[in-house]
This record gives sequence, structure tokens and C-alpha cells, in this order.
Amino acid sequence: MTGERTFRCGANCGTNIADPERTGKPDVLFKKSPPVRPELLKIDGRLLEVRVRLNPRARRMIVKVNPATGEISVTAPTRRGLSAALDFARGERDWIAGQLAKAPGPVMLAVGAVIPFHGRPHEICAAARGPAPVWADSDVIWVRGDATHAPRRVLDFLKREARKTFESCVLDHAARLGVKPSRITVRDTASRWGSCSSARALSFSWRLILAPAFVLDYVVAHEVAHLREMNHSPRFWAHVKSLAPEMNAAQAWLKANGRDLQRYDVK
Ligand SMILES: [Zn+2]
Repeated sequence: MTGERTFRCGANCGTNIADPERTGKPDVLFKKSPPVRPELLKIDGRLLEVRVRLNPRARRMIVKVNPATGEISVTAPTRRGLSAALDFARGERDWIAGQLAKAPGPVMLAVGAVIPFHGRPHEICAAARGPAPVWADSDVIWVRGDATHAPRRVLDFLKREARKTFESCVLDHAARLGVKPSRITVRDTASRWGSCSSARALSFSWRLILAPAFVLDYVVAHEVAHLREMNHSPRFWAHVKSLAPEMNAAQAWLKANGRDLQRYDVK
């Protein structure tokens, strides 16, 4: 009996892997988040959304402001505490306002925005005509058509680019280690850059396409290496390092900038 034990990568890559003894499916690694209820709280004369969460493992009421996106959340340890959670957040109004003033806020993938792509800033620009609905050319991401649809189109483009890049990168590393994944999935998870299930399915966050190539390469190498070693043993790390010599720099980059990649969205 192994239950649903997963363990978190000791490095800052945010990788979780399933228990190797479990015949896991990839969705085990992306368990539904605990209940989230949006509530409104008035701060500095503005009505702001607060996400109320239940987390039985929390030892007390916790208010958080995501420094990248400005999302406000309050976590209650018990169901009974949920009703008091908003009052608790209200009591922390000044602290929340201070955090919000420091948060750079979300960036919509709209015409005029500057977003990182392969680690370099690119401006999203409208194009009257061109070779595709969306394409990248030096430091510009061109998007055709009605500007109101641009964010969705750019997002689809980024996910497609991410998938192509993951697939070729996985093939490369897998060939070097003599392993074969069962499938590759592209997801949008806030806390995990990649994962590997015991069913040999690899999964990656599309947001890695925003990061420099050596960072994406490291996360892919990390997950591919799990196809050889379903653990974080020294043998595992030796494989990762042989595939991605810039491992340490990539981990440091994710620690410093990973959260920033969560800012880019369609709304
Ligand atoms: Zn790992």
C-alpha cells in the first residue's frame, strides 16, 4: 500500500514525481487544488477579489499576495474557518495594500505588450498580413486579425511553440539516455515546471517557452532523467548534469525569475 505519495524535487525546479511503485497516471500529479471561493474585499476604495481556500494542513489562517500577479488569497485550516477567512483578510487590509503596491501585476498577451519569448523581450504587434495568424520575427511577435482576439491567438501560438520545443528536446535527451517516454503533455500549472509519472508520461508547463533555452532544456533533461531514475538520488542528478551542463544556472534562474513567468495571461 503506497497511497498517493508524491515527493517534491529538492531543487528549485518545482518538479514532482509520482511514487515509482504506483502505476500512476499523469493526472495524479495535477490533483485538483483545494476548494477556492472568490470573494470581494474593499481595499483602498477598490473592490478586489480574494480567493478563499481550505487547506487542512495549514496550521492557522494565512493571507498571501502573489508578488508577480497581485492575486490575493486567504487559506483557512478548517471548513468552519472559511466563513471567518474574509474577516481575517479584512483585518490585514493595510498589509495587503502594501504588498499590492509592490506587485508588478499581470501582463495581458495583447497588442502592445512586451513579453519574454525564449528568454528575450518581444513586443506583440498587429500585422495587416503575413505568413501565419501569429509568428515571431526577431524581437516581435506578429499577430493578424481582430485585436480583441490577439491574446487568445498569442497564447495558442506560445503553447504550440512550447510543444514543438519540448518534443524535439525530449527526443534529444531521451536518445542520449536510451529511454522512451509514453507521452508528452503541455499544461499550465502554477507550481510545477515539469513532471514525470510512473506511466512514463512527461508533462511540462508551456510557460517555459518564455524562459531562456537553457532553462527549458534543464527542466526537460530533469524529467527525461526520471525515466532512468524515478528518484532524486546522486545517480539521477549525474544523468541530469550530463544532459544539461547548465543545470545549476537554470535552477538559479527559475528561483529568481520563475514566478515572473506566471504574470502572462489572456486577461
Ligand atoms: Zn525530479
